[in-house]
Amino acid sequence: MKSTIIIPVFAVAAFAEVFSFTWGPIDVEFSTLEIQARGAVVKIIEAEDGTFPEGTEVIESYYVIPEGCIGCQICIGQCPVGAISMDDNNLAVIDPELCINCGICASGCPTSTIELLDADDCALYGIDSEGNSELLPGELEED
Ligand code: SF4
Ligand code: SF4
Repeated sequence: MKSTIIIPVFAVAAFAEVFSFTWGPIDVEFSTLEIQARGAVVKIIEAEDGTFPEGTEVIESYYVIPEGCIGCQICIGQCPVGAISMDDNNLAVIDPELCINCGICASGCPTSTIELLDADDCALYGIDSEGNSELLPGELEED
């Protein structure tokens, strides 16, 4: 009986989409780059050997819009794969590498602040050593 539940859930994960986000050379004055979507940090990109890559892949996933999160932690108890944790500001964060896109957390969130990532919401930001962010030009390519 257990396997009849687990197999369909992981079948959803197998169809999770990955899309590409590309950009030009980035000034090394930034300490990190971030892909953000409606205030959620979707991916953090570190410099390697003093330079940033000129693109990355982003996994389609559910994510928490931070401004709507009240820190109730209901979503953590509901997630079947342990993909949600609380950050230092008591806001829920979803790990897209673990998320199987089942949507259970989105249904149970009392403030409706969990949504499936829309590629068009994503934007690239450069973050300096003091935490200031700057919007940078980037381009999305959906497969
Ligand atoms: S259920 Fe919604 S409001 Fe509660 S911690 Fe999770 S994302 Fe935040
Ligand atoms: S959609 Fe929500 S409940 Fe489902 S795996 Fe992803 S984070 Fe967990």
